[in-house]
Amino acid sequence: MKNKLYKNVMEDLVEFRFDEIQNTLDCCTCEHCRNDIIAYALNLLPQKYVVSDKGAVYSKITMVGAQHSSDIMAALTKGAEIVKKSPRH
Ligand SMILES: [Zn+2]
Repeated sequence: MKNKLYKNVMEDLVEFRFDEIQNTLDCCTCEHCRNDIIAYALNLLPQKYVVSDKGAVYSKITMVGAQHSSDIMAALTKGAEIVKKSPRH
């Protein structure tokens, strides 16, 4: 098995944004609901794979984050609405 150097930076961005706005979502944020909301949001958003060579990942995360900031917000809000209606915790 070779080293896996690629990753979907959208995952980090969605997790980071979730932690920032969780208090405004008016939704349960227990571990299970948090995962449900993040997974739902990720399914709505484009995958953004980057290859982690040296410091390049961080700047790519920042770039993708700036491009998709409002999409990420909208996806998390939708995810929270769904989870609020039928929480699985
Ligand atoms: Zn919950």
